[in-house]
Amino acid sequence: MPIYEYEHINGECSSGKKVFEVEQSFKDEKLTRCPSCGAPVRRLISLIHISTPTTNSEYKNMGFTKLVRRDSGVYENVTRQEGQPRYMEADKPDTVKGVLSNIAD
Ligand SMILES: [Zn+2]
Repeated sequence: MPIYEYEHINGECSSGKKVFEVEQSFKDEKLTRCPSCGAPVRRLISLIHISTPTTNSEYKNMGFTKLVRRDSGVYENVTRQEGQPRYMEADKPDTVKGVLSNIAD
């Protein structure tokens, strides 16, 4: 079963751990409350424990943006959502703007 990481939304847990791990089935509902202190928590996406997606549509479904280099300074956004440009050019910020918000560092 995959292991999910959860983070306390409002500060520390009474147990002292802000982030904790829970082993859950894919079918299980995600937790909204910490099992030890009852505070609200949110699930983090943990790439470590999830098998690596192999197709562009899987990346897209997971909320990732994948860029493929097509030419010098030109990248195709193969996971683009509606309203995003297909190609981005490194020296043209307008073509990149709509996508930056999707890129996590
Ligand atoms: Zn807690």
